Amino acid sequence: MKMKLPHSVQASFAALLTLLAVVVVSYARHRQSGNADSQAQNRPWMNSSLSPDERADLVLKEMTLDEKIDLLHGNGMPGWGKPRPNAHLGNGGAGFVLGVPRLGIPIIQISDAAYGVRSSGENGRYSTALPSNVASAASWDPHAACEYGTLIGRELRAQGYNMTLGGGVNITREPRNGRTFEYMGEDPILAGTLAGNRMKCEQAQYIIGDMKHYAVNDQESGRSEVNAIISKRALRETDLLAFQIGIGIANPGAVMCSYNAVNGDFACENKYLLTDVLKKEWNFKGFVVSDWAGTHSTVKASAAGLDNEEPFDHFYGAQFKEAVQAGKISQAELDDHVHRILRSEFATGIVDHPVKKSVVDVEAGLETSRKIAEQSIVLLKNSSGVLPLDPAKIHSIAIIGAHADTGMISGGGSAQVDPPGQSSPPWKEHGWFPTSPLKAVSAAAPGANVQFESGADRESAAALAKKSDVAIVFVHQWTSEDMDLPNLALPENQDALIDQVASANPKTIVVLETGTAVTMPWLEKVSGVVEAWYAGTKGHEAVANILFGRVNPSAKLPMTFPHSESDLPHPNLATPPPGAGDHGPEGNERGAKPAFEVHYDEGLKVGYKWYDAENKKPLFAFGYGLSYTTYAYSDLKVKPGRETTVTFTVKNTGSRAGAEIAQVYAAFLPSAGEPPKRLVGWSKVRLGPGESKQVSLTIDPLYLSIYDENAGGWKLASGSYTFMAGASSQDLPLHQKVTLE
Ligand code: BGC
Repeated sequence: MKMKLPHSVQASFAALLTLLAVVVVSYARHRQSGNADSQAQNRPWMNSSLSPDERADLVLKEMTLDEKIDLLHGNGMPGWGKPRPNAHLGNGGAGFVLGVPRLGIPIIQISDAAYGVRSSGENGRYSTALPSNVASAASWDPHAACEYGTLIGRELRAQGYNMTLGGGVNITREPRNGRTFEYMGEDPILAGTLAGNRMKCEQAQYIIGDMKHYAVNDQESGRSEVNAIISKRALRETDLLAFQIGIGIANPGAVMCSYNAVNGDFACENKYLLTDVLKKEWNFKGFVVSDWAGTHSTVKASAAGLDNEEPFDHFYGAQFKEAVQAGKISQAELDDHVHRILRSEFATGIVDHPVKKSVVDVEAGLETSRKIAEQSIVLLKNSSGVLPLDPAKIHSIAIIGAHADTGMISGGGSAQVDPPGQSSPPWKEHGWFPTSPLKAVSAAAPGANVQFESGADRESAAALAKKSDVAIVFVHQWTSEDMDLPNLALPENQDALIDQVASANPKTIVVLETGTAVTMPWLEKVSGVVEAWYAGTKGHEAVANILFGRVNPSAKLPMTFPHSESDLPHPNLATPPPGAGDHGPEGNERGAKPAFEVHYDEGLKVGYKWYDAENKKPLFAFGYGLSYTTYAYSDLKVKPGRETTVTFTVKNTGSRAGAEIAQVYAAFLPSAGEPPKRLVGWSKVRLGPGESKQVSLTIDPLYLSIYDENAGGWKLASGSYTFMAGASSQDLPLHQKVTLE
């Protein structure tokens, strides 16, 4: 039976329905668009005198289940899989997380930004390329790390982003790792300190900071299938210690869990890593974001502590909602994830300081990039004072090397910063910056005849070297995410080129543009070696400034350079079995199991600790780097106590001003079961000619502690220690034995 209503009632009913439809549609649109509602400014959580936790809780109370789920996942990544219907809301970065516009919570716009902001090519933008991360670690300078982060933070915001994916701090356990250039070297204390300072300053620009890839993602071969097997003690004292220190300094809004498994469980569903250590022990208040397509489950990952799936919603979208509705994930667990994300948004200031796009400060970026490059370039060899070159005395210079006329190489993968004037290099293809060494050297030596040979024809390169006063050979080793190097040799016959050039003219200087260590079979034949790494947007000028002595080199290696791969803890890389890694277009595989194992049975002996313990002489030691002046060390005094202090004097014994990175190592009693020594502190001392300064360092008790697996905690190893100070891990003239109670 149909009931007939009067016309007036029908009309008002229709009007009401229309109104309702408008409200629903506009609410849905609004929820999708993620634009913050201006009225939300007056809401109680906008009171910035409340703590980020209080503010997050106030928002959380207002949220619907769907709004909560929106916060738990990404919405795709440009160029990866099918674009989602709301893809237009993205900013061209690695992904985005919807906001809650009716409550004034903005979209999180996420970009990769390892050594600069990614994807400027396809987005028609500009980003400064800084020297690679491992290069910046060679400065050993927390202030430089801070400048590095500040610059990236500013450029992220200028380009419309409010979250970074920089902050790589995996230690160099495996130097063939294709991402070594994105990390901070082999020592957890150095790496953690620098990555922490970098991210602290980046985040201070109102950016959600991130540290990655947590944890033990120490090789790229089979990265999504590999199960890293490592003892708890080694884990805590090596890979995790770098994160612990970095997170302690930066207090980042996010930590990215890695693709690989650790001791059986994938990192993004590893309760020990995410909950027991990160959230409980370290008291990390931010959120855990998965590496891109690194999520494998819903209930298990959620219970383990993963808060946000990127860049898709395979596990943390509809399935998550169903799991909550079915009671498989509790409301409290859901709310904890959401709380963490909101909390980071308030804590980092992205809610109070909405992003306003602007023009990147190109000039300031160039200046900062050059300055950091100058502090990052390591002088490895300087026989009979071949360097610095004196433009007044040199009449002819041979510049040799593929691309040395036009540019210098950069690191690839998601870290890639696009070279100005070019589009983004395709995935896993070389990206050359238009930083011409030929031009920079010619400008530095205007009176000299500077000629170029690519080296494609080794005979002609050698002939040019022979008739020149000096030959400078620019060589490169390209590395990238998603691949490891087969070995540490320079590719493309560059060893043979150097050899032939050096045979023609012993006054040969090699400039290395590398992402990690290289072997140097020609070392004895050349006069000079300069490690320039991937040197960034002003690399050519920075190199020229070092070569011609306008800048006195001060950088020191943050990683060991071995003689050969056979000296490494794992002479052969562990590689995946055939067929591993076929995950389909969007990379996830429900319930996937790791397909192979890498056993890090060298344990605590990472980097120099391995060479020390195994009595292997490295090609160039951790902490090594020359200067155009010389330094002397004296008067070591160690005052043991709750906070041990170490003092000593460094004197500049040469005739040029310089900066010396003075290092302190501690050797534990043999019963502690530690490698022969560990870096526990350093100071970069700036000294005029003849000047002396006293260095005083307070050693963090954590750095003198060992992880006791049985007790499940750190303990200061009491007993006798030897403290050593000097210029590198292999050059420690000062020793003092003390007893710590
Ligand atoms: C990388 C991450 C990166 C992400 C987004 C992944 O492949 O491992 O470091 O942040 O992609 O581009």
